[in-house]
Amino acid sequence: MTRRYRSPFNGKRFIGNNNTNEVHDLDNEKTSCKIDQIKDEHVVTFSPDTHSEAKKKGFDNCAYCIGNSNY
Ligand SMILES: [Zn+2]
Repeated sequence: MTRRYRSPFNGKRFIGNNNTNEVHDLDNEKTSCKIDQIKDEHVVTFSPDTHSEAKKKGFDNCAYCIGNSNY
C-alpha cells in the first residue's frame, strides 16, 4: 500500500477518483480505499499535488485515508 509509479498515478500522493468524486492520500492508504479497483480512466492527479488543490477541484475526502468526508 503505497504510491504507484506507473501511469496514470505517476508517483503522486493525492489521487482523485472522478467516478466517486473522492480524493485519496496514498501516503496513508487503507485497504478500504480499494485504490487498485479504480479504473485508470477514473484516476485524476493534481497539480500541485496537494490536498487543498483536490478540494479546490471539488473532490470529497476519502473517509478512510483522509477522513472528514462530507457524506
Ligand atoms: Zn482513501
